[in-house]
Amino acid sequence: MFIHCSKKEEFILKKIGTAASEAEMPAFLIGGFVRDKIIGRPTKDLDIVCVGDGISLAHKVANRFSPAPQVAFFKNFGTAQIKFEDLEIEFVGTRKESYRSDSRNPEVEPGSIEDDQNRRDFTINALAISLNKDNYGDLIDPFNGLYDIEAKIIRTPLEPEKTFSDDPLRMMRAIRFATQLGFQIEEKTFKAIKDNKERIRIVSQERITDELNKIMVSKKPSIGWNLLFTSGLLQIIFPQMVDLAGAEYIDGKGHKDNFYHTLQVIDNISIHTKDLWLRWAALLHDIAKPATKRFEEGHGWTFHGHEVVGARMVPKIFNKLKLPLNDRMRFVQKMVELHLRPIGLTKENITDSAIRRLLFDAGDDIDSLMMLCNADITSKNKTKVKRYLENFELVKQRMQEVEAQDKIRNWQPPITGEIIMETFGLTPGRNVGIIKDAIREAILDGKIGNSYEEAYTFMLQKGEELNLAPVT
Ligand code: ATP
Repeated sequence: MFIHCSKKEEFILKKIGTAASEAEMPAFLIGGFVRDKIIGRPTKDLDIVCVGDGISLAHKVANRFSPAPQVAFFKNFGTAQIKFEDLEIEFVGTRKESYRSDSRNPEVEPGSIEDDQNRRDFTINALAISLNKDNYGDLIDPFNGLYDIEAKIIRTPLEPEKTFSDDPLRMMRAIRFATQLGFQIEEKTFKAIKDNKERIRIVSQERITDELNKIMVSKKPSIGWNLLFTSGLLQIIFPQMVDLAGAEYIDGKGHKDNFYHTLQVIDNISIHTKDLWLRWAALLHDIAKPATKRFEEGHGWTFHGHEVVGARMVPKIFNKLKLPLNDRMRFVQKMVELHLRPIGLTKENITDSAIRRLLFDAGDDIDSLMMLCNADITSKNKTKVKRYLENFELVKQRMQEVEAQDKIRNWQPPITGEIIMETFGLTPGRNVGIIKDAIREAILDGKIGNSYEEAYTFMLQKGEELNLAPVT
């Protein structure tokens, strides 16, 4: 066997080879599994192609096991799937594809193994291994994919122009693989992406976003975002990101390039968290800087309110990118909105009440917020970075002290809306909200203590101001 497989994988591959040989079908292991084994990446998805009917081969293979695993098959696509413990094995007949210009879904007809390798997107994804008895384990590598894996190159097997024009999703895949694997996209291949960028418009948003998310959970997401930018794809799929690029100068004063700053923030945070949504928050934290940019005489560039405007932009961006419009989105919004707050607390003479407020507003997400703020420090001036980080440590210490004392993180004010309604004989309405907010604010500001008694007395006072009398 050319690649190194586990005993379990070899056991299965041999069974597939024997079943295929008995049916006189040439069969091959192909694509991502072969690539990942050579690279040494963990992989659980085996793609098998055979010259003949994939569904029939899957059944023959399943029958060699006792008990026989279930075969899930899709007659329309001619594909079948078997699960064997943690491995997923997919079977399909070798095929030839031809494309029409308005769709990335090809016309498919049966073909040879060469035809099947020709339709693969990249040389590193076109490697096949024979499974039949007489040539078990041989590598079939018509495009020198092995060399490209070693040289860390992404290249299309056939003319890149046609490869990308036929199925423009491959442009996103090229950039995603370059990011995941740390490979370079070969020059001609990259030029073809630039030349075919407009074709991305025929790809569904879900498929594009799938690739974006894979870029986002990579070790160094900036590789992908940079390639999307330089290829021109980003301009089409996410123009707000492109608006961050560049630095404007007035009276010799410039601001930092927020695109590259953002890329650094996303890489910084990726060292500390694998959380996709916190990574999205890092990517979007300054998204409203272009919209809020002003030049103030004698002061320089300002981006006042970019955190609030940015938080408002998040739902629109999530909607456009078909990211989920649920708690995940609200988490990203919250991170964007609060991302300047901890920095604000590094100034001198910060009161307990300011710290309490942040703990209350961030709640359980305070650690994520602090991580984002740490990642946001991208100054090249080492002394400045050191000073910021030290100040952050002080803020963290203060937060711990205030939290230990006031338990504000998951806190609810001691007087509920129900108690207010009962006390004054009210039905739900404006006055209940006013009193409830006033109690919360008074506690957060430290005007009254965080106890039922003090809050109750304060509620009665507030009621009086509103001309409300308690019902006894
Ligand atoms: P990953 O599992 O990380 O997405 P993969 O290479 O296994 O990587 P799949 O989408 O499972 O990706 O595809 C399996 C194989 O099918 C690929 O290795 C490639 O040979 C081929 N393939 C997938 N998508 C395309 C495409 N759009 N155009 C051409 N070939 C493709």
